Amino acid sequence: MNKQKKLVILKQKMLKDESLPLKGGATNLVFGQGNPEAKVMFIGEGPGYWEDQKALPFVGNAGAFLNQLLYSIKLPRKEVFITNVVHHRPPGNRDPLPKELAAYRPYLDRMIEIIEPEVIVTLGRFSMAKFIAGVTITSVHGKPRKIDWKGRGVMLIPMYHPAAALRSAEIKRRSIEDFKIIPEVLKKANSPVAKEKSNTRQMKLV
Ligand code: URA
Repeated sequence: MNKQKKLVILKQKMLKDESLPLKGGATNLVFGQGNPEAKVMFIGEGPGYWEDQKALPFVGNAGAFLNQLLYSIKLPRKEVFITNVVHHRPPGNRDPLPKELAAYRPYLDRMIEIIEPEVIVTLGRFSMAKFIAGVTITSVHGKPRKIDWKGRGVMLIPMYHPAAALRSAEIKRRSIEDFKIIPEVLKKANSPVAKEKSNTRQMKLV
């Protein structure tokens, strides 16, 4: 089964899941959007007003800035996959609670498993905390690191949330600088040496 079909099945399962804690207050499920074959996956926090209305991630003001950032590095939005750590809008756009993050986690994990991205860009502290514990976004933003994601090496790049950039000119400037690392990390992940290394690892596993 191809990745597109697997994602459709996952979305159908989510749509039917009555146990998802934020479902009652939301208009729509915001599953995610983009290329199922994406090499880069962006993970934000949760849908806001416009995302909830349109059932699509990052389509409000923060999304407009994310689009600008993608444009600045010539990475077409349709080539990446964009989702969030929670897939229904928290009431009044409040922060997601630990039990809510836990409820949506298996779905996000499955999305990552299906897409198998080479690079994961976290947007904001909630998605960063999914992969790295005990750090502040101020100390790690824009710094790529290799992580082991369920036995697969993935390059993780923590970034500020685009909404934070809209509130602070300094964070906006830093975000623009930080995004420049994405094409470099992608290029390295695609280099023949990196490919050879990952093939060797896979062969050892067999
Ligand atoms: N903020 C997020 O974290 N995600 C969205 O989809 C929109 C705004």
